[in-house]
Amino acid sequence: MNIILLGPPGAGKGTQAKRLEASRGMKQLSTGDMLRAAVAAGSEHGRQAKAVMERGDLVSDETVVSIIADRLDQPDARRGFILDGFPRNVAQAAALDRLMASRGLKLDMVIELAVDDEALVRRLSGRFSCSGCGKGYHEAFERPRSEGRCDACGGSDFVRRADDNAETVKSRLGIYNRQTAPLVAYYAALGKLKRIDGMAGIDEVSRQIEEALRIA
Ligand code: AMP
Repeated sequence: MNIILLGPPGAGKGTQAKRLEASRGMKQLSTGDMLRAAVAAGSEHGRQAKAVMERGDLVSDETVVSIIADRLDQPDARRGFILDGFPRNVAQAAALDRLMASRGLKLDMVIELAVDDEALVRRLSGRFSCSGCGKGYHEAFERPRSEGRCDACGGSDFVRRADDNAETVKSRLGIYNRQTAPLVAYYAALGKLKRIDGMAGIDEVSRQIEEALRIA
């Protein structure tokens, strides 16, 4: 199955994508993760994207579409994928339609995780992750079981995303509402949209996603 997880920053797309990787063997394709890796590696795409990402703006469609096109051509994407953070506007959605059609791939479902803005600000401003294995945590909602030690890998180095500060979060939410939210109507018109209450707890959201995929 090939699906899109659609929702504002902090809605839980990354968390749920990782759970679907574990439960269904689908591959998480996160343009944010790919761009952060490109920035860390100092590649051409990374150099172009760095300042844009720090401001919370969108990287150019040309850059992200070319990153996704390359990624779709890798063999592990053929076993089913979860797009996380792409597409982010109607032009990217149209480009994705073309990329998938030319590869004979079908989009099965778009799952929208709906969360209100106030909760998003709380979620984003407290999150951090293990620099070793990437496991995500939150200062208020999910601290490591043993203070300062990652539950998953035992690592002791934690990082915060440069764009998870109050100022940038506001701009990212504004961009989501203006540019990405119209994709809800885009995919509803194609009969592919399934809306899920992203305000529920992590396990309950996973349960609802699994149920939606089972009956698809
Ligand atoms: P994310 O990890 O999905 O929150 O993405 C982090 C940042 O990467 C965003 O704020 C954008 O600057 C950039 N980015 C990720 N995906 C896209 C995309 N599909 N189009 C444009 N910019 C993106």
